[in-house]
Amino acid sequence: MNKLAEIIRLHNGVEIPRIGFGTFKIADGKEVINTVKIALSTGYRHIDTASAYNNETGIGIAIKESGIPREDIFLTSKVKNTDQGYENTLKAFNDSINRLQVEYLDLYLIHWPKPLSSDTWKAMETLYKDGKIRAIGVSNFMIHHLEGLLETCKIVPMINQVELHPQFPQDELRDFCKKYNIAIEAWAPLMQGKIFGIEFMKNLSTKYNKSIAQIALRWLYQLDIIAIPKSSNPERIKNNVDIFDFELSEEDMGKIKTLKGDRIGPHPDKINF
Ligand code: NDP
Repeated sequence: MNKLAEIIRLHNGVEIPRIGFGTFKIADGKEVINTVKIALSTGYRHIDTASAYNNETGIGIAIKESGIPREDIFLTSKVKNTDQGYENTLKAFNDSINRLQVEYLDLYLIHWPKPLSSDTWKAMETLYKDGKIRAIGVSNFMIHHLEGLLETCKIVPMINQVELHPQFPQDELRDFCKKYNIAIEAWAPLMQGKIFGIEFMKNLSTKYNKSIAQIALRWLYQLDIIAIPKSSNPERIKNNVDIFDFELSEEDMGKIKTLKGDRIGPHPDKINF
C-alpha cells in the first residue's frame, strides 16, 4: 500500500492524503515540472500550490506528464490577497484551473485573512456548490478571523492551513478548529529549513535513528495533522516522508511540543502584501 496516499476525511466526506507536497519557491517551468514528477513517482498524491507561487502552469504539465489519473491526485490552490472579493475570486479560480489544465480543484483556500474575506468566501461557496471545488478552506486564519467568518458563512471551512511546527504547535487554534470539525494542515512543517539547527531535534534524530525531517513529520502524523513538506532535492523528497516504520513515544511527543519559539512566517494580522 502507498502510505503517502493515506487519508483524513474532511467534514464533507472528502478524503485528503495526510501528506502532501509543498511547492512554495519552486520555480515554474523545468524546475517545478521535474520536482513534482519526482514527488508523484515517489508516491505523493497531494500537491499544494497557490496562484501567488507562479508555478501552476508547470504543475499542470507535471500532472499530465506523470500519467497518473487526475482523480488520483489531490490538488490544492489558493486565491491570493489581491484577488479577494466575490467577482475577483471567481475569475482567479478560473485562471488557476486554466493554468493547471484541470476541470476542478480538490481544495481551494483563501490564502490570507483580509477584510474582504467574507465576500471571497461567498465566491468559494458558489464554486463549491457548482461542483468546481471538492473542498473549500482558509489559510492563516487565527481564532478571531474564524469567529468572524463563522458568523456569516453558509458552509463551514473544511480546512485551515497554517504555520505549524514543533516550535509553534498552535494548540489553542487546533482546539478551536476541532470544535468545528475544521481539519488543520501544517505549512512550514520543517520550519523552512530552520528545524535542522535545533539541538533537541538532533538528539531525537540520534535516539530514533531517523532524520530530523522524519521526526518532525512523524510528530505531525501522530497528531493527525496534515503536512505539506517542500523539497527540491530528489533524495529529500523521498527520505523526508519515510516515516511509517517507527513511532515517537508519548513522552517525546509531549517534549517536542514544549520547544519554545514563535512563528517564522508573517503574522496574519500584519501582512502588507
Ligand atoms: P518547509 O518547512 O517545508 O521547508 C522547506 C525548506 O526546507 C526548503 O528550503 C528545503 O530545501 C528544506 N529542506 C527540506 N528537507 C530538508 C532536509 N531533509 N534537509 C535540509 N533541508 C531540507 O517550508 P515551506 O515554507 O516550503 O512549507 C511547506 C509548504 O507549505 C510550501 O511549500 C507551500 O506549499 C505551503 N506554504 C503555505 C503557506 C501559506 O501561507 N498557506 C506559506 C508557506 C508555505 P530543499 O528544497 O533544498 O530541500
